[in-house]
Amino acid sequence: MKKIQMVDLQSQYQKIKDVVNTSIDEVLNSSAYINGPYVKEFQADLEKYLGVKHVIPCANGTDALQIAMMGLGLAPGDEVITVDFTFAATVEVIGLLQLTPVLVDVEPDTFNIDINALKKAITPKTKAIVPVHLFGQCANMEAILAIAKEHNLFVIEDNAQAIGADYTFKDGTSKKAGTIGDVGTTSFFPSKNLGCYGDGGAIFTNNDELAHTLRGIVNHGMYKRYYHDVVGVNSRLDSIQAAVLKAKLPHLDTYCQARRNAARYYNNAFVNNPNIITPVAKSNKKNCSTSICDNCNCHVFHQYTLQITNGKRDELHQHLLDNNIPNAIYYPVPLHKQKAYADKRYKEDDFKVTNKLVETVISLPMHTELEEDQLAFITKTINDFIK
Ligand SMILES: *Cc1c(COP(=O)(O)O)cnc(C)c1O
Repeated sequence: MKKIQMVDLQSQYQKIKDVVNTSIDEVLNSSAYINGPYVKEFQADLEKYLGVKHVIPCANGTDALQIAMMGLGLAPGDEVITVDFTFAATVEVIGLLQLTPVLVDVEPDTFNIDINALKKAITPKTKAIVPVHLFGQCANMEAILAIAKEHNLFVIEDNAQAIGADYTFKDGTSKKAGTIGDVGTTSFFPSKNLGCYGDGGAIFTNNDELAHTLRGIVNHGMYKRYYHDVVGVNSRLDSIQAAVLKAKLPHLDTYCQARRNAARYYNNAFVNNPNIITPVAKSNKKNCSTSICDNCNCHVFHQYTLQITNGKRDELHQHLLDNNIPNAIYYPVPLHKQKAYADKRYKEDDFKVTNKLVETVISLPMHTELEEDQLAFITKTINDFIK
């Protein structure tokens, strides 16, 4: 059996090495390291893949969130609602821009924003909602869009973990994750579903005016060279990363499929274990169940996350490490309990689900190269320990 890794980027690279190396060589020989042809080509390819009018590449997923908020003209004091259970980048940029983060709880089965909690958190100062499509599946966008419309709020999708996923509306139409709200953001961090070999990110929108604003903000607020109309930032996707991404994008659907196959193996293996809750994939698509079907691409499993309900999560974490099975706790501390983001306004009762999840979740190895003997070993080790 090959050594088990949380994310196996090396084996994935070996399969696409020729095209990646040729592309990188081309960049090196051209010396167009910044804003070279690969950046524009990847941008166009991604626009086509996502079915979105504008992709604005930038330096990383955190910048993408910040720039999106700057582009929407959010101002100090504006309240931005997001989730308590996510990677800190989401709330960090809200704080950096001196906006007021308002954290809310998540749903126990999908780990995504709880719609009732979202409704309760809206005040006259609320300006935007940032749903995070956690672990590879879209939040309940249909409900979020309706609430946003009613209260005149912007929707910024943090799509760092769900690129390639489809979201189906009740009428049967579907859109790619990140292209549903006013603006969407993503990260190309190496371990993300579409990862480069360094840092990278992008912003998506169908709004021409907003796209224009964003293109200036990423480039020092310049719309004409050396004329700075607004305060911007320096946030670029470099040509080498764009070359890697252009080579990898055609494989994204196959990569999603490979992740889903691994997730299905895991789900089947744990189905009869009374102390394990497996992740659900929720979709409005007809003939879709909460099991993982091939009929829809609603979950792309950036992470495969179990809930261990018998109180032995931490013991399992150690037991797996002792058996050379990498695993991780995403996320161990709710954001409202982090020193940087604690706020007297929060009541523990408002975060019942997150407070429980941080004690029960465990994420298993998940990537495009998992092999059956590895999956068999991982699931047997878990089922032998958690009975
Ligand atoms: C990875 C991630 C980010 C940040 O992306 P970087 O490219 O690392 O800056 C933001 N939000 C979520 C949910 C993420 O998982």
